[in-house]
Amino acid sequence: MDWKSPVAMLKGIGEQREKKLNRLGIFTIEDLLTHFPREYKDRSQMTHIGDLELNEESTFLAQVKFQGDNIRLGRFLLTRIMVGDETGVVGALWYNQPYLKNTLIVGNWYLITGKLQKKYGKNEVVVSDFEKVGDNFAGGRILPIYPSVEGLSQKMLRNLMEEALEQVGSNLQEYLPVDIRKKCHLAERNFAIEEIHFPKTEESFHDARRRLVFEEFFVLQGALLTLKSQLTDIGTGIQFKNPDAMTAFQKTLPFDLTGAQKRVLGEMQAEILDGKRMNRLVQGDVGSGKTAVAMTIAYWAIQNGYQVAMMAPTEVLANQHMQSFSESFSKLGIETVLLTGALKAKEKREALAKVANGEAKMIVGTHAVMQKGVEYHNLALAITDEQHRFGVRQRGALTEKGDEPHTLIMTATPIPRTLALILYGDLDISILDELPPGRQKIDTMAVDSRYHERIYTFLEREVAKGRQGYVICPMIAENEKIEVQNVLDYTEELRARLKNCRVACVHGKQKPKEKQETMELFAEGELDILVSTTVIEVGINVPNSTIMLIENAERFGLAQLHQLRGRVGRGGEKSYCILVSDSKSKLSKERLKTLVDSDDGFVISETDLKLRGTGEFFGTRQHGLPELKIANMYTDMPILLEAQKAAISWLADEFACTEDENEKLCQHFGELLQGKTLYI
Ligand code: ADP
Ligand code: MG
Repeated sequence: MDWKSPVAMLKGIGEQREKKLNRLGIFTIEDLLTHFPREYKDRSQMTHIGDLELNEESTFLAQVKFQGDNIRLGRFLLTRIMVGDETGVVGALWYNQPYLKNTLIVGNWYLITGKLQKKYGKNEVVVSDFEKVGDNFAGGRILPIYPSVEGLSQKMLRNLMEEALEQVGSNLQEYLPVDIRKKCHLAERNFAIEEIHFPKTEESFHDARRRLVFEEFFVLQGALLTLKSQLTDIGTGIQFKNPDAMTAFQKTLPFDLTGAQKRVLGEMQAEILDGKRMNRLVQGDVGSGKTAVAMTIAYWAIQNGYQVAMMAPTEVLANQHMQSFSESFSKLGIETVLLTGALKAKEKREALAKVANGEAKMIVGTHAVMQKGVEYHNLALAITDEQHRFGVRQRGALTEKGDEPHTLIMTATPIPRTLALILYGDLDISILDELPPGRQKIDTMAVDSRYHERIYTFLEREVAKGRQGYVICPMIAENEKIEVQNVLDYTEELRARLKNCRVACVHGKQKPKEKQETMELFAEGELDILVSTTVIEVGINVPNSTIMLIENAERFGLAQLHQLRGRVGRGGEKSYCILVSDSKSKLSKERLKTLVDSDDGFVISETDLKLRGTGEFFGTRQHGLPELKIANMYTDMPILLEAQKAAISWLADEFACTEDENEKLCQHFGELLQGKTLYI
């Protein structure tokens, strides 16, 4: 067995499990070993119940003694379960997760982390985390937590990692030449991979991580640079004539474009008139009007006789875009078609025929727009919305549907300009830094769950005024089933409490059609409150919504909260964002305060970075681009710059590398960029 062997060669992997691993992008042993933990839990310091100190977070092993109780205490739904070890028995408390009562089973042992607090007259442990442990539990350690899918437990992944390391651990492919490793002070790959999964100390973890982050940036930079040096000219683009069409189209819109929208359109127009092939990223906060920009440029392409495709990350978004586009375009005699997975066979056949014969000029859809079997007549502009949800390969696949079409990528995720330049190579960037006029500042408040009653009363009042609201209930567990249950329970609770409101929910386990129907009802005003996890579609647009209520707000990234907040305040009415969190952590409080204080996406993401940078050492979640496996483009900036410098030196032959080493690197670069060349 070596690092290239199929992962199915490891013990205990049957067909089912293999499929699940494949879903995570794991096919070979190397894929498995480069499936890095997304965070760690330090379980190395354990204590006993008898030694618990008041108000101190501790980890201990305990057995469930009695079936738990759910207790309603004012605004809280409390679950209390008595647990014990040989030194004593204590009540363990969870808030608002009533299903745990049946999840924790009498007689089973759990590794529990929490704080002993004086609650309701008794000392009890408020649990922040727990894990069931088996019979052969060898004691706490620093545990890796992996991105996973349902049916693949952390324990299973951990065991697989251990076995893979045992089988090939000292035998992994080293990509970085010795001289680069020496001069840049980088650990060996074998060591790094082993340590990143099962860190022994903080120091060794840092060395391991630095090495892997460096490798990731170096390979990315090296690959981009190599390719750029090969392609001096990325070619001419399809030229569109008659730019006045854009002005004519703008006149048909129900509003005047903002200065920023006009500027960005001007940038694109100039480039295309110049005969260049456009390859552009448009960044603009939620609500900045990216769709109108896309429409205007699409209209120009269509007036020149070409087709335009726009890909959205979800069915709901695709449907919404379909609506906006056909509304604007049909009165101008342009046919828009929708391509999504939810289409019936006959509808799909008809749509595909229109795409192939050129009758459909505007094609809107999900991934379906770039799948096999979709033939375009003359695709000249490929637009991708909400870029951070797509991998480079998917975007590339859409581009390949045309004969070197222009590319426009739209995102609401602010990426500092320098970083984006490095990561996206020669992609040009336009920024929509102005919101349409008349937008009201959204009143944002951060409160704890004692405010629930008041919030609900407020919700009822807004609904009575004819407004609508979203309630975001967090993804509380790795387990999708529990998550769905949680949303359903919460929805029931809201229904019971908000008697005069029509409440419905959407969640990740619903069929696209069912989701779509609920969203439509909401958009049509037939529902007042929509409950969901963030799985719903960050881009939906219902101007009558004035309330965004986010439960357990501390669990979300700031950029994500900011995007969610952007769902309201789209109509003329005063809008509110209520962040509910019971987190006592200073960091959480400060993060949420950032949102209360600022409504600038760039400021928010920078602050998030700063705060998290000084925050927890283990456990910072990477939230970079999907193609970065370990590096964080914000917090790893210094390593990025180092790796970039090294890549430039390597290309200039300034390192003493053997031919063999260089060849291996080049091969690796090639693999990395396979199918992605169009973006550089
Ligand atoms: P996003 O950038 O988040 O994709 P949208 O394109 O969905 O934003 O636009 C949000 C809302 O603002 C839509 O209802 C759209 O019609 C409206 N809008 C866009 N541009 C303008 C403008 N220049 N003036 C007024 N309203 C606008
Ligand atoms: Mg949008």
